[in-house]
Amino acid sequence: MTTIGFIGLGRMGANMSARLLDHADELIVHDLSAEAVQSLADQGAATAGSAKELGDRCDIVFVSLPTPPIVRGAVLGATGIAQGGRVKIVCDLSTSGPKLAIDLAEALATKGIASIDAPVSGGIKGAKDGTLAIMASGPQAAYDTVEPLIARMGRVFYMGETPGAGQTMKLVNNLLGAVAIAVTSEGMAMGIKAGLDPAKMIDVLNSGTGINSATRDKWPRAVLPRTFDFGFAAALSLKDTKLLLDEAEGMGVPLPLGEIVRDYLETALADYGPDADFTAMAKVAEKNAGLDPERSA
Ligand code: NAD
Repeated sequence: MTTIGFIGLGRMGANMSARLLDHADELIVHDLSAEAVQSLADQGAATAGSAKELGDRCDIVFVSLPTPPIVRGAVLGATGIAQGGRVKIVCDLSTSGPKLAIDLAEALATKGIASIDAPVSGGIKGAKDGTLAIMASGPQAAYDTVEPLIARMGRVFYMGETPGAGQTMKLVNNLLGAVAIAVTSEGMAMGIKAGLDPAKMIDVLNSGTGINSATRDKWPRAVLPRTFDFGFAAALSLKDTKLLLDEAEGMGVPLPLGEIVRDYLETALADYGPDADFTAMAKVAEKNAGLDPERSA
């Protein structure tokens, strides 16, 4: 009988864990937020009071937490998953970077626990609908065990046995996604200042060669309606971008577009607060262009 644990029931984790409910003998969840735990309990999940308890009661534990230090603490800390006596596989779905994936793989191996890094792309909607792109790496046997479970969340790509390969793929994916927001922000600001209708511009771009993930999803859902609530925090996008730049620098790979995105995100957080969504990059470009970013739709 396989018991599955899930820690981190936020925007992504709440949806991804819910998709496992009918596909495990038992799903046990944990989060610092009692409200988040209750919501999964209401859907039929059992609950645990700590990460270690998940490690004690589960064979496989999934992780979807905000930052690398939080993931490290939840897995390897004094009350972390690895302290539990039952767990055999830890699968990190967070964007936590290749360096941490390598550290986790090494530290967990000393306890006989396999580590899979399997970051995801596709946002809250993809997490809800089970249409994420999932980039997994780690030992083949452990991958074969988790694959049917993560396949519930979307399309799975096995990047190989090297720890962190999935994380590297995810950082590259996020560079393209974030640059698409930045460049769309600049192009839209120019068009709006010239008097073009923003909704018509998006229609044109989506029918022309300018189409990208920002014109297709982010503008229609969060920028044209001026709600700026797409569902990915600017702070987390900045974390991803810094992980990317750090990794690239270590490899001797210049990423000037990544540096521009980092600057946009830092300005968005300074101007619109720590809870700003990453689509607030559009407001930064509008302000730079002399437009009023607070105008209504
Ligand atoms: P979130 O901030 O919405 O959720 C994080 C959850 O973790 C919260 O419920 C919080 O209470 C919980 N938490 C924090 N520290 C904890 C701890 N020590 N122990 C237990 N629970 C703890 O974040 P999210 O948007 O769901 O993102 C999760 C991960 O997925 C991040 O690494 C992010 O980069 C990545 N990601 C997010 C998106 C997105 O669109 N939101 C898309 C792809 C990948």
